[in-house]
Amino acid sequence: MSRATRAEIRLQNLQHNLQVSRSTTQAMQMAIIKANGYGHGIVEVARALRDADAFGVATLDEGITLREAGIYKPILLLEGIQRDADLLFVHAYDLQCVVHHQHQVDLIEKSSKPVTVWLKMDTGMHRLGFTPKTFNDAYNALSSTLQVQLPIRLMTHLACADDKHSAITMQQIDLFDEYCEPYPANEKSIANSAGILGWPQSYRDWVRPGIMLYGVSPFVTGIGEDFGLKPVMTLYSELIAINQLKKGDAIGYGGSYVCERDMPVGVAAIGYGDGYPRHAPVGTPVLINGKRVPLIGRVSMDMITLDLSDCPNTNVGDEVVLWGEGLPVEIIAQHADTIGYELLCGVTRRVRMEYL
Ligand SMILES: *Cc1c(COP(=O)(O)O)cnc(C)c1O
Repeated sequence: MSRATRAEIRLQNLQHNLQVSRSTTQAMQMAIIKANGYGHGIVEVARALRDADAFGVATLDEGITLREAGIYKPILLLEGIQRDADLLFVHAYDLQCVVHHQHQVDLIEKSSKPVTVWLKMDTGMHRLGFTPKTFNDAYNALSSTLQVQLPIRLMTHLACADDKHSAITMQQIDLFDEYCEPYPANEKSIANSAGILGWPQSYRDWVRPGIMLYGVSPFVTGIGEDFGLKPVMTLYSELIAINQLKKGDAIGYGGSYVCERDMPVGVAAIGYGDGYPRHAPVGTPVLINGKRVPLIGRVSMDMITLDLSDCPNTNVGDEVVLWGEGLPVEIIAQHADTIGYELLCGVTRRVRMEYL
């Protein structure tokens, strides 16, 4: 029997969450499945999302992995290509490229075969993209390149859409529109998950849902369920010990947690070696037999310790849920001072993935 620590991936919830995006906007859906499908397994995720209109990935390797697994939908490299050799793979594997920098224009100009490009404008995120000043030059250079498929597609990325009160998002949208005015016929894209769920003004021809497909809210507060999303990953482990500790007993590395009373303490077989955040503080909830119990002591590589005072009928071997069904990953992220994205991407290879 293999270790109980595992992540169950409910593939039908991926499809459900894509439908939530579809029912929110008529736009074409580019499902974002970078970082190994946000930690869920890129190939399995792509197969489950067969209704998507295209896929977006960060790296060439991710694109190649999908093609070699038989995924035939359009695939966009969200960071484009970096060197001459990349172009050969773009051709061989039929990948589309974001162009966000002059050096990529120079690379694409040398293309010997047709390429589909998405020209990226920096409307305020100041990470990737042409500034409004340089955008037209890049557009003209690409559109006069024989092998570039016309019309060129246009995109930008939102920096603050996760904050529904930020004024930045409308400024970015307005700026995008201003600079796209000469290109009315070109396909365009602005929205990530937060744009889809919070900013109807950001809908264009394409949207790019990422985190929402995995059932997680893109916003600073709230959970995916608020939008009818269903969690895709549930992370499980089991109790491998229950110890009756005495008042004054210190638990774990550093002995940082000292029992304030006699209490039963459970040990679950999961730790930062599996991707459970080491910074999860005392009080972070863990689900046992449907009840939330608090983490106590430090998270170690392979284990965590739990206060079982309120669960007297718990036994060694009982299942423990770290996040997912019944315990949104957003809650764990808030406790551990991070975001659901990081927790999902951080599940390590030691954790068995079971696809349902
Ligand atoms: C990752 C990414 C997305 C998806 O973002 P979510 O917040 O996960 O929805 C969309 N567009 C680009 C360019 C990205 O890099």
